[in-house]
Amino acid sequence: MTKLAQFIAPLTCPACGHRTEGRDNGTQTAILDYRDAKGLDPRIVLGAEIPDLEPFAIEDAYIMLRAPAEGEPVRILETWRCPSCRAAGQPWFRWAEVVFEGRRFASMRDRELSLAFLREVHFACQSLVMEVIDPHLGVEVLERYTLPSGDMDPGFIPLLAPHLPAR
Ligand SMILES: [Zn+2]
Repeated sequence: MTKLAQFIAPLTCPACGHRTEGRDNGTQTAILDYRDAKGLDPRIVLGAEIPDLEPFAIEDAYIMLRAPAEGEPVRILETWRCPSCRAAGQPWFRWAEVVFEGRRFASMRDRELSLAFLREVHFACQSLVMEVIDPHLGVEVLERYTLPSGDMDPGFIPLLAPHLPAR
């Protein structure tokens, strides 16, 4: 069973202005899945180093859209949830950008999903498939651009032009 961890980072919701604290941002990541479940601390706190984080941990947990260059900060498309919007009955699923500098969880911020953002990130969570590619482009396009490794050929990104803002 996948061992899920959480990014602990304050996030500000552009819809309602709520600023999350601690664990209420609803993020889930599998990047600590390689660790023993026993004694696993699922919290990945902003600014913290994960001393045993190897590139394979991120590659296994996410869909790769393009390989990061050596030493380049690793940018990940993630999701989060605004608890305040949820309480108000508003849409509460949101996109975010997570950045790792080496083994350090360097930053996380809310971002609107756009073609430019998709071209910038190296990795994406499964929500990109479930919430965007499958509903907008359909399973045939999804299969055509899915590589044998499970990663994706970013050639699908321009096909989303009718559905996403350019930037
Ligand atoms: Zn909100």
